[in-house]
Amino acid sequence: MALVVQKYGGTSVADIEKIENVARRVIDIKEAGNEVVVVVSAMAGETDRLVNLAHSISEKPDPREYDALVSTGEQVTVSLLSMTLNKMGYKAKSFSGHQIKIVTDQSHTKARILSVNTEMITDELEKGTIAVVAGFQGIDMENNITTLGRGGSDTTAVALAAALQAEICEIYTDVDGVYTTDPSLCPKAKKLKKISYDEMLEMTSAGAKVLHPRSVELAKKYEVPVHVRSSFNKDEGTLVTKEDEEMEKVVVSGVTYDRDQAKVTVIHVPDKPGIAARLFTPLSDQNIVVDMIIQNASIENYTDMTFTVPRKDIDDVRKILKIAAKDMEAERVEFDENISKISIVGVGMKSHAGVASRMFAALANEGINIMMISTSEIKISCVIEAKYTELAVMALHDAFGLEKE
Ligand code: ASP
Ligand code: MG
Repeated sequence: MALVVQKYGGTSVADIEKIENVARRVIDIKEAGNEVVVVVSAMAGETDRLVNLAHSISEKPDPREYDALVSTGEQVTVSLLSMTLNKMGYKAKSFSGHQIKIVTDQSHTKARILSVNTEMITDELEKGTIAVVAGFQGIDMENNITTLGRGGSDTTAVALAAALQAEICEIYTDVDGVYTTDPSLCPKAKKLKKISYDEMLEMTSAGAKVLHPRSVELAKKYEVPVHVRSSFNKDEGTLVTKEDEEMEKVVVSGVTYDRDQAKVTVIHVPDKPGIAARLFTPLSDQNIVVDMIIQNASIENYTDMTFTVPRKDIDDVRKILKIAAKDMEAERVEFDENISKISIVGVGMKSHAGVASRMFAALANEGINIMMISTSEIKISCVIEAKYTELAVMALHDAFGLEKE
């Protein structure tokens, strides 16, 4: 008998009919002789509705109350699914994050899980009950309700799978698995059978939105095998797992893009110690995540700094830099919101030469100008003009032969 954790996203529980479909899948696994823990998200659109309600009251609602509100979506789906399972003749019990004690830190709206108490769940599993757990939520040490950030139910599922030492964590969603690139942009995209934790992490940070980034970090840390698959068919999806030799033979596993960034250039700043700290500290103090950073070679002790920030934060960045630029005696600051970041990801890059030049050549062939470049061991990213996103993705998908995989 194995213990299986399954997670169903919002589109999979969008209405009663879909919840019945989920219940049937849960029962199949149970009938195959497994213990089942199910994590669910709120019904599709529900969390957005709650967020909008909060924002109709205040632009910056109190974070504690915001979490108390937006966590309610999941409370609805856990009970609906449990009722459905009961009706179909199965023992099921719903649990909220605070009932089982999914303890998080205190950073409301983006809390991190610190510990999971498995007692209540294992007790129920022993009695043959299906445990249905609300995703996305926890409590802090002072019993305040917290949430894990948008898309955080994936993280609840992986954390539970790790704590319960589950055989597998299945993430059911509205896509078939992890693709070589976004199929809606590039029809040649292929579903990957397997992908390593590190590749998945880089793909999520580079714009692929299949899994919540924190869930992949946890899966890697506790070596939880994660199977991403569709709740609307029975096809095998993609297994996110430990790196193996086979994976290293493939140079590039995926192409991703991120259209949610903006580029900032601080022009003509004195090149002296402390400048970078003075520029980036006020941004990090406001929790603004700076992604790519380039500092040019200086000319006569002056330099330019270019970096990217999430586009949603651009107004805050403008305000902060107005002060910082003056303070640093920079000439001016330029903003460009018409950019997109294109990345190629693959563990095989570690052992293959010439990957970067192949990427640059493929973009050059399409007449696409590269504005910024950054590299990590298994990822190369280029910032380009936003209007070329689709073209760039297709060109790179072809250049690395991803349709043939
Ligand atoms: N319901 C939450 C959201 O929409 C969490 C999740 O779906 O994973 O972000
Ligand atoms: Mg999701």
